[in-house]
Amino acid sequence: MPETGTPAPDSGRAGLSRLRGVGPRLLESLEQFGIHTVVDLLFHLPFRYEDRTRLYPLGSLYPGCQALVEGEVEHCAIVPGRRPTLVVVLADGSGRITLRFFHFRHTQKQQLTKGTRLRCFGEVRGGFKGLEMIHPSYKRLVAGSDEPVSDRLTPVYPTTEGLGQATWIKLTGQALDLLRAGALQLDELLPAELLENLQLPSQLPNLAQAIEYIHQPPGDADVAALVERRHPAQQRLALEELLAHNLSMQQLHQQQHRLRAPALDQPGAMEQRFLASLPFTLTAAQQRVIAEIQQDLAARHPMQRLLQGDVGSGKTVVAAMAALRAIGNGYQVAIMAPTELLAEQHLRSFRGWFAGLGIEPVWLSSKVKGKARSAALEAIAAGEPLVIGTHALMQQGVAFQRLGLAVVDEQHRFGVHQRLALIDKAADDNENAHQLIMTATPIPRTLAMTAYAGLETSVIDELPPGRKAVNTAAISSERRGEVMRRVASACAAGRQAYWVCTLIEESDAIQAQAAEDVAAELARELRPVRVGLVQGRLKPAEKQAVMDAFSAGDIQLLVATTVIEVGVDVPNASLMIIENAERLGLAQLHQLRGRVGRGAEQSSCVLLFESGAGPLAKERLGILRQTTDGFKIAEKDLQLRGPGEVLGTRQTGMLQFRVADLARDQELLERIPPVADRILAGSPQLASRLIRRWIGDSTRFAGV
Ligand code: ADP
Ligand code: MG
Repeated sequence: MPETGTPAPDSGRAGLSRLRGVGPRLLESLEQFGIHTVVDLLFHLPFRYEDRTRLYPLGSLYPGCQALVEGEVEHCAIVPGRRPTLVVVLADGSGRITLRFFHFRHTQKQQLTKGTRLRCFGEVRGGFKGLEMIHPSYKRLVAGSDEPVSDRLTPVYPTTEGLGQATWIKLTGQALDLLRAGALQLDELLPAELLENLQLPSQLPNLAQAIEYIHQPPGDADVAALVERRHPAQQRLALEELLAHNLSMQQLHQQQHRLRAPALDQPGAMEQRFLASLPFTLTAAQQRVIAEIQQDLAARHPMQRLLQGDVGSGKTVVAAMAALRAIGNGYQVAIMAPTELLAEQHLRSFRGWFAGLGIEPVWLSSKVKGKARSAALEAIAAGEPLVIGTHALMQQGVAFQRLGLAVVDEQHRFGVHQRLALIDKAADDNENAHQLIMTATPIPRTLAMTAYAGLETSVIDELPPGRKAVNTAAISSERRGEVMRRVASACAAGRQAYWVCTLIEESDAIQAQAAEDVAAELARELRPVRVGLVQGRLKPAEKQAVMDAFSAGDIQLLVATTVIEVGVDVPNASLMIIENAERLGLAQLHQLRGRVGRGAEQSSCVLLFESGAGPLAKERLGILRQTTDGFKIAEKDLQLRGPGEVLGTRQTGMLQFRVADLARDQELLERIPPVADRILAGSPQLASRLIRRWIGDSTRFAGV
């Protein structure tokens, strides 16, 4: 990423301060948006538009419409009360409307004397006494003069408190004037081949025109297209933006790639012993992926490989093989998972698998405190071969002796910088750790091209043999009683079941309470079914005791919060009930469903939805009934709910686009990779300029 101090590629960097009305305070506010130059300002794009090109008679208004109106003040008063309100009645002969202001200054009342002519824009609502506008924007008109109505749509910009729309409009207006006068130049950075592909209309021959159109669209512009950002002027910019994001991720990964890493090229005896000890043989897909990883590990630069595999596809064994390769070569391995529960599951797997090899994992999470923590830190510093934990592994004070490989599970829950922080932990300044990133959420290709551009990818596209597709049904919560009886009879027949409670509340306490209530209810109603409960607030040992009891069959029905989403493996469980399924993302539901269908028994999953759930919610649940293909499901999730749902909120900070939209602009995305590769290979300067223009300095990623 370019440094903050590098000279701007776009000419016209010469200061924002050449614009009228820009003082130190405004400069500071603009800087918060990454706007340092006049050109930067032009790339701060409106996110919607208002049509102020026509004046509407007051008599023609109706609730819900947005309109520009003009009239004379008939009456103006402050209505006292707990919250004093400034109320203005405006009339134009065809009708009248009430304007209400909850925030106002007393000078405002003094200015709005009877007879003053006003022009207002706002949304019309039905009030107690006829139509009204709440906090319309307004302007006093000078008596006798004829103020023209704008022939352009009015842009609305993303902004923050204290920086009004009027300021943005004034600033961009001046910037556009400079552009038209030739005092400012916008360089065309999109390669010709991409431009040709876009088939831009003739009235938008160049970048400057597109920018102008987006800031000040003519009154006859296709507003719907503009609002949905489908207009050719916007698509052109979207393409550039997507290209810039792709380049910036690739550049980041290339920078990593240039670093040095230990060549872990000696196969050890432990690998064969480990494989021989497993009760199964690896699938062909697992073997292929392991070979890909081993090849990377043998190189002298850090591996950066994304391992994708649907839930249950057996990624952990692959990670274990990679770990043994590193350990066999005398290096340490760190395995990091985003939740305590998932990390604990890894701890158990590896403890069991590696006991025979004499490797005992070191455990570190933020709950490990005091003496236990010091002991763990000491062991890590002393070079213990395997460390498993949560993001506590990345914290200050954790120093590895010789970290050779970092395995990051479910990395979409971590930000890109967190991930990079871990490989920096390799103690030797000249050497960096190899990195294996695992995800069970299939990343739609479009997302992968942006969020993971430049990472090598391996896919386990095969489930271990004997898995049966899970029957899935979506059922209204009105039939909850019926579902409960079904659970009871399944348990009576020796099967085991999960009952998942979902709540939108973030609070562990509230979730835990809700799950407790459900567990109590089910235990009461389904007697003699043995019901257990696992939720995020239990201590690790308590959680473990419940999970062990469930594994052993002592608990028949396990009530859980979504903490079981990842890392639970009980093959005898063949029934999964998910309450309020409509609240969860498809990818998350798919993960939950993946907890069943692991044994010989035919498994089922029941998605209970609130009877009030909307049609969109039902459409989404329908997708899960139709397919068990995690990739298709993730694509749908991306379309219906956006990247935040697929990747988790953590990573969305870096996926905030100004014009592009990953779901909508898939077609644009398809064209990017070959072009991006050529740019990186042949014109790194151009790459830097694109990145500078759209992403700026890396501060935008700082919080990610
Ligand atoms: P995930 O990819 O979701 O992390 P896991 O690694 O937890 O999947 O594996 C799911 C289950 O499948 C585990 O019980 C694991 O031991 C088992 N498993 C993994 N590979 C195979 C295989 N090749 N054959 C049979 N079972 C396997
Ligand atoms: Mg897993």
